Amino acid sequence: MQILDGQHVSQVTRDKLKLRVAQLIAEGKKIPHLAAVLVGTHGASETYVNAKVKACLEIGFKSSLIRLEDDIPENRLLAIIEALNTDPDVDGILVQLPLPKHISDEKVINAIHPSKDVDGFHPISVGRMVQGLPTFIPATPHGIMLLLEYYKIDTRGMHAVIVGRSNIVGRPMSILLSSNANPGNCTVTICHSQTRNLEEICRQGDILVAALGKPEFVTARMVKPGAIIIDVGITRVPDVSRKSGFAIKGDVHFAEVAPISGYITPVPKGVGPMTIAALMKNTYRACMDKN
Ligand code: NAP
Repeated sequence: MQILDGQHVSQVTRDKLKLRVAQLIAEGKKIPHLAAVLVGTHGASETYVNAKVKACLEIGFKSSLIRLEDDIPENRLLAIIEALNTDPDVDGILVQLPLPKHISDEKVINAIHPSKDVDGFHPISVGRMVQGLPTFIPATPHGIMLLLEYYKIDTRGMHAVIVGRSNIVGRPMSILLSSNANPGNCTVTICHSQTRNLEEICRQGDILVAALGKPEFVTARMVKPGAIIIDVGITRVPDVSRKSGFAIKGDVHFAEVAPISGYITPVPKGVGPMTIAALMKNTYRACMDKN
């Protein structure tokens, strides 16, 4: 069994970007600028946004964090996005999800100009990804592909089973793993809450991507020996032994599954840091495309 060390690969990716920023500065060129919008004070969202801003600072990107009240009217948020769209200094725009109930995710995602859509959620970005055209790939699936690439895992002809069909993880993952590329070229099965015989299907996966948000859901009996296990799940579970009062759990029962797997991502330090690295790559690219 080999650990797919997202923390390490993320650092390698960010170090490369750091060098490129140093080069941009030496050449007197524009530095990538990510604008992050956080609505409300959702604990996990706050942590994610802070980690993204911190990564920008470490690499040398410019970042702006726009904090907005929970009850901001939808049209005010849309106006702020429009101002970021037209600001020539801003290269990438990220609106941290989930948004409060009175705001439509769809309207917000559609409002971000595709050239600044570093999260890759805009329908134009998604459509281009489906067609295999250059575009911004959603950060988590993009990060997973970078991880597979780093470890030179040849996925050709493998059967990839993905549990979860969300627009931010499961569905884009299915597109990328089935694309005519390497990593890619898999035969993909996508599962969800209505899937029958889930265990049996998971056991067929040469690659098993767990993205359902149910802590330790995937147990040893659901895994093909030697399979590549990608654990996307991040759930806070109460843990009184910790100062924070919670522990982070993945969707895979690591202690049971790791010994029989070929490769496995840990939680934390697996997919999470890769998501940030991929977002940074997207931001760099947004800047390069414009300048
Ligand atoms: P989501 O939007 O809630 O989607 C969950 C998916 O899992 C849905 O498609 C759902 O099916 C399916 N599902 C739920 N229970 C199931 C069950 N018992 N059996 C089979 N399928 C089931 O979640 P998400 O946004 O994709 O996130 C999934 C997990 O990844 C969460 O823990 C989230 O925190 C984590 N995450 C991590 C990162 C990272 O950077 N590491 C990034 C994003 C998300 P239906 O469609 O039928 O409801």
